[in-house]
Amino acid sequence: MRVAILSAEAVPYSKTGGLGDVAGALPKALKQIGVDSVLITPCYLQTKGEYLWKLAIDDLTVNWRGVNYRAKAFYSEANGAPTFLIDAPEYFHRDSIYGYTEDYERFAFFNHAALVLLERIGAPPDIVHLNDWHCGFAAVEIASKRMRSDYWRDVRTVFSIHNMAYQGGFDANELWKFGFSGEFERNAFLFNGYASAMKAGLAVSDTLSTVSPRYSHEIQTAQEGYGLDWLLRSRANRLIGITNGVDYEVWNPATDAVLPAHYDFRNLAGKRECKRALLENFSLPVSLEKPIFASITRLTAQKGIDLMMQVAGEILATGSYIVSLGSGAAEYENFWQRLRDYAPAQVGIYRGYNEDLAHLIEAGSDIFMMPSKFEPCGLNQMYSLRYGTIPIVRAVGGLDDTVQNFDRVSGSGNGFKFAEYRADKFLEKIYEALFAYYEPDSWRRLQLNGMTTDNSWENAARKYEQLYRFTKS
Ligand code: ADP
Repeated sequence: MRVAILSAEAVPYSKTGGLGDVAGALPKALKQIGVDSVLITPCYLQTKGEYLWKLAIDDLTVNWRGVNYRAKAFYSEANGAPTFLIDAPEYFHRDSIYGYTEDYERFAFFNHAALVLLERIGAPPDIVHLNDWHCGFAAVEIASKRMRSDYWRDVRTVFSIHNMAYQGGFDANELWKFGFSGEFERNAFLFNGYASAMKAGLAVSDTLSTVSPRYSHEIQTAQEGYGLDWLLRSRANRLIGITNGVDYEVWNPATDAVLPAHYDFRNLAGKRECKRALLENFSLPVSLEKPIFASITRLTAQKGIDLMMQVAGEILATGSYIVSLGSGAAEYENFWQRLRDYAPAQVGIYRGYNEDLAHLIEAGSDIFMMPSKFEPCGLNQMYSLRYGTIPIVRAVGGLDDTVQNFDRVSGSGNGFKFAEYRADKFLEKIYEALFAYYEPDSWRRLQLNGMTTDNSWENAARKYEQLYRFTKS
């Protein structure tokens, strides 16, 4: 089984969110169970030179919009498995990874270049594994090439949805510029009068997956399907949910190089040191007995920041700390800033993206808040579990699949979750968590349950292998 994985981002080369974590970790996990893969991803301005091991192809000629564009490809195994990084400065050497009006063109180019690269490096893969709307273009190109090219005839495609909310819509008149002029190709993209790269990927890929079982059902409803639920329902027998794994080589409190002290489920003494370091990091007074509530997230409505805004005052009234790491919408950034101004001895904020601080927060805090409106999988709740930090989540998507409510009597469960998107429901769970926090036996049990929960990539990789085999059969 030979698999080519295409992704717009992949750790450690690039990352804005969960997609980067997943695309970076899956190839290594596949390798460990004996599945060969090659990852193809763009080389951004942000991709550190130390990861670009060698210039593998310095004349990757990509026929694009009628001219020959000369790209390059670097080779690396910095993520633990073979990777090609496509270097096309015009498209990828920019201040940020996404956020440009012509993003659809940038990723259409990436897809086409990735297929040119595959033909260049050797025998056809069995499976091309595509991720999110950025790879919808390749799904159509492969489906179309299959009809007329020996190289592509037996290649099958798997399309993974990491977030239905981003669909890569653009003017359908642009399609011909990218070489999509046939009827089959246009029909694949067309959606409500414009072109949608997500819709194209969902319509023509051989099988579909998404990042948790619960989310695979949610996206088949009008509420979470973003207009494409009908298509997903019609393809339900080819759609599966596979919960993301955690890369425990990166997220492990026993070895995490960022932390001032290490710990595991047998001995949590080091966690106290991390808590001290976290409070000092934010210049907060050090009272180790008080709980720290934490949030690490992109500040968008999806993440339930509105609910956090509504409960923050109540949390502070209990004497607890709150720390927040993230950037995004101005209204949310302003909220955290105001909260910090209001209670400078209890609130720590960092506006921006900071990988090291994310590790320290996971280790040093006590309670992790993730009251998302929707959450395809979510990774931070799983990191929290491993770091002995108890998650309070809303019971949606992957959050529902990975967090079980704590039961004080039986001692089962690894966190707290609530169903309705309402601040009072969230608050109930916050008080329940605080109650457990001040009851050391309960808290220890909760931490143990969480730290021994196995969300390793091996499980997920085996499910992907089965999906690849099903897709090929
Ligand atoms: P999403 O992909 O929707 O952003 P996930 O929970 O799946 O949400 O993944 C988010 C990933 O991005 C996690 O690894 C998280 O630690 C990281 N992350 C989000 N915001 C920040 C930030 N401001 N600084 C560092 N890491 C962040």
